[in-house]
Amino acid sequence: MAKILGIDLGTTNSLAAVWDNGKSVLVPNAFGEYLTPSVVSVDEEGTVYVGKTAKQRLASYPGQTASLFKRFMGTGKQYRLGQKTYLPEELSALVLRKLKEDAEKFLGESVEEAVISVPAYFNDIARNATKRAGAIAGLKVERIINEPSAAALACQNFRQQEDATILVFDFGGGTLDVSLVECFDNIIEIKAVSGDNQLGGQDFDNALAAHFLRSFKIDPENLTWETKAIIRSSAERCKKELTESKTAEMVVNSPQICEKITISRKDLVTICADLFQKMGKPVKRVLMDGKISTDMIDDIVLVGGSCKMPIVRQYLEHILQRKDIETMNPDQMIALGVGVSAGIKERDEEIKDMILTDICPFSLGVNVVNETNPDKKLTSFIIERNSPLPISKEQIYVNSWDGQTCMRFGIYQGEAMYVEDNILLGEIKMSIPPRPKHTVECRVRFTYDINGVLEVNAYIPMTNEEKQMVIVNKELNMSKTQIEEKLKEFSQIKIDPAQDEENHYLMAWGERLFMQCDGEMKEEIMRKMHGYEHVIKTDPYSAGKARKYLTVFLTCVESMLDHYLNWDEKEINMGSWYEDEGDAEMDEFFKKWDEEDL
Ligand code: AMP
Repeated sequence: MAKILGIDLGTTNSLAAVWDNGKSVLVPNAFGEYLTPSVVSVDEEGTVYVGKTAKQRLASYPGQTASLFKRFMGTGKQYRLGQKTYLPEELSALVLRKLKEDAEKFLGESVEEAVISVPAYFNDIARNATKRAGAIAGLKVERIINEPSAAALACQNFRQQEDATILVFDFGGGTLDVSLVECFDNIIEIKAVSGDNQLGGQDFDNALAAHFLRSFKIDPENLTWETKAIIRSSAERCKKELTESKTAEMVVNSPQICEKITISRKDLVTICADLFQKMGKPVKRVLMDGKISTDMIDDIVLVGGSCKMPIVRQYLEHILQRKDIETMNPDQMIALGVGVSAGIKERDEEIKDMILTDICPFSLGVNVVNETNPDKKLTSFIIERNSPLPISKEQIYVNSWDGQTCMRFGIYQGEAMYVEDNILLGEIKMSIPPRPKHTVECRVRFTYDINGVLEVNAYIPMTNEEKQMVIVNKELNMSKTQIEEKLKEFSQIKIDPAQDEENHYLMAWGERLFMQCDGEMKEEIMRKMHGYEHVIKTDPYSAGKARKYLTVFLTCVESMLDHYLNWDEKEINMGSWYEDEGDAEMDEFFKKWDEEDL
């Protein structure tokens, strides 16, 4: 049986895994790395870059590069990259295609089907957009799995533990999901989920960036796109450094700003105080919904890049009054779990007995008349948040006034009392015979399956009329033919071929550093890059060596950039720095090309 690819389509990074030889195994990308940044960039020729190269282009080609689009799946938001506009699901399709192609190369076989994870808080529209992304990428996606369910699967598989109650705290770049999972007798049951899909590591970066601007009284209005991107990436670098050490410098070196500031872990807590408050809320809610106290939790599993921050773990220890929280592969847990899920779907002997039960992460209902305020219709809930899946529930509604000939049911998702504050998923309209009020019944049934597909049935016993609606089709809003056309259109898009990827990545990296540097260093980068291009074009046998040297050079520039504000001010002597930090052989190597090229 062909392999099913498990995909963690993340806000900042994506990973793939397969079930192999009785275990979940991560699949490396063309760089031999597991993390592929969820970033897409398009150049003037229309070539698409996905991953590490595209991430480098964020600062140098912001108008042609998109990131964090997962936050807007299914919202209709448009991204203009060069000559074309893309929907978030189309950009996601390009990421999925890249993961598919890299996996095919690694596995040596073609991949046609995938299981994809999504945040528990993704609504139906976003889930369907994810499926559509899969279809456009040429992948059959029958199963969508909640990220916390995947993390629990990985944890259970990894620890081989028997019965346990696990709290999964999944804190990524753009979203926070907290879930309570119970494992017993090979059954993994999600008891409650909560979260915030507008809270992630990115918010820490933004808070640090805002603090930096405030400290120097800089008005962001006066900054170019490029400078803003540089400030954000310096903020992220500083945040990550604070994971390793107690203080870190935030250095901004752009043509507009040359400043630095020292930040301690304590400062980070103060600067991000409101983010910590937001972080605590879903934890409390999930414990309340699951009706358990903190001492009943056997395991607390931290998932997602932002859990690497020691202050996040400390904060959780503080609010949960626990001292035993450990961090295991926070970047990989979800992907490893989706790999297990792919194994379950393949019906692999080893895990076929494992049953994953899931819950509906939000309430679903219809609109009903509000007698006291007719303009603000009320929500009548049919399926309540945290109900185990699959679930099928029915409610009976009656006509509201004499002679009414039609009953319209708006289908809503969300917890708010008034429908206008919830998300409209669709509408079902039933004709009814004109009769006195409260005498005609309509039975509305919601059936929500394990893949998050909602089916709505409405039935009028008086006339025997019945209507059925599957929200997945309505929201996909694309026929099979339309999807096939999109698939054809997207398969013609040229994704940067794997053999050129490393070169393009180095060039994109060099271009970004070129933009960030001044004077002598700018010239040096240009010289090195010209030399490198020359080697690649004319001397393929030396390409590997040139790549190695350029990587060393750019790494040095990157770390110098972190430590010096201004090359001219600090009077950095290129020659001496190079001899100290670099490699004389490398210098010689590039000099040869410099002379020929310039
Ligand atoms: P994810 O969506 O799980 O890939 O998480 C990405 C987020 O994790 C981004 O906001 C990163 O800045 C953040 N992150 C990754 N590594 C670290 C680290 N070492 N320290 C702090 N945050 C990190």
